[in-house]
Amino acid sequence: MGQNNYDQEEIRKFFTSLPKEVIERENKKQLQEIERDHKEFCDALDENKCSLCGRSLRYVNKAKPCLHWLLRPKGADKKRILEMLVSGGFGFYRTQGYLRWIANYEKPLANINTLREEQDKKKLFEITVKYKNLEWTINYNQSDRDGHQGTKNNYPHYHFAMRVDGLPFIDFSDSHIPFTDEDLFKLTALEAKVIEPMELYGASLQEIFDNVSLEEIIDSSSSAPSDSESVLKFDTLIEANEGETISGDEIIKIIKENKKTGVPLATLVRKLGHKTTTIVSPGERIPEILHRSKRRN
Ligand SMILES: [Zn+2]
Ligand SMILES: [Zn+2]
Repeated sequence: MGQNNYDQEEIRKFFTSLPKEVIERENKKQLQEIERDHKEFCDALDENKCSLCGRSLRYVNKAKPCLHWLLRPKGADKKRILEMLVSGGFGFYRTQGYLRWIANYEKPLANINTLREEQDKKKLFEITVKYKNLEWTINYNQSDRDGHQGTKNNYPHYHFAMRVDGLPFIDFSDSHIPFTDEDLFKLTALEAKVIEPMELYGASLQEIFDNVSLEEIIDSSSSAPSDSESVLKFDTLIEANEGETISGDEIIKIIKENKKTGVPLATLVRKLGHKTTTIVSPGERIPEILHRSKRRN
C-alpha cells in the first residue's frame, strides 16, 4: 500500500539515462492521451455520464468504485467515498486531476485555489476545488509525506476534506489516504525537479500567474457580470504625465466603452497615453482554501 518510497537520486539517474527522443516521443504521446481523455470526459459530462467507468453519474455500485462518487450521487456516503479514495487505486494525482477537470468544466480557472499566497506555510501542498454545492480540499505536510512515524499511519499519505452546501461532510482527520506507487514515483520526480508539474485542462489561477505574463492576462480578460463572479480583480492606477492633467471626459468615455464591450479598464486606460499601473489579484469567485479547523474543547 504505497509503502514504496523512491530515491531522488535514483529517479534522476533513470530520467537522465533516457534518450532525448524517447522523452520527446513519450511526452507527445502523453499529450495526445490527455487531449483525448479530456474530450471524452467533457462529452460524457454533457450527458451526465462518467468517462472513467462509462456509467451514469448516478451509478453507485460498491464493487465498482469510481471517482465520480466524489460528486456524491445517492448511495455514495462518507464511508464509501473514503473507501474509494483509500483502496480504489485512483491515487493522489488522478483524484486531483478529476477534481480540476470537473471544476474547469463548469468555469475555467474560477473554481480552483492553489494560490501560494493563501497557502498554509506548514503544508507542502494544498488545493481547494469548488463545483456547484460541493467543495473538496486535498493537502499534505512533510510528516504526511513521510508517514507519521510511530503510529499506524506510518506510510506516505495525504489528507482530504469535503464540504456540502458549505458544511463539513468529510474531515481531514477522517483518513490518511495512501499515495499509490505511481504517485510516489511522480512525486519524487517532481521533488527532484526532473519533471515539471503540468496542468493542461486542470489549470488554476496560480499556474496561469506562473506561466503567462500579466499583460497577456489583462489583454485576454473580459469583464465579469458581477464582482462575485470575477476570477481576477484588476486595480488600475493612472498617473498623469508631467505638466498634463487627465480629462474626466476621457475617463468617462473609457468607462462607457468598458460597459459596452467588456474589454477590461486595465486595457482601455492605455489609450489615454498616461502612465498606468495595474495590480492583478484573485477575484471573489475563487474559493477560499479550507485549512484544518482548530480543535476546540
Ligand atoms: Zn465513474
Ligand atoms: Zn497525516
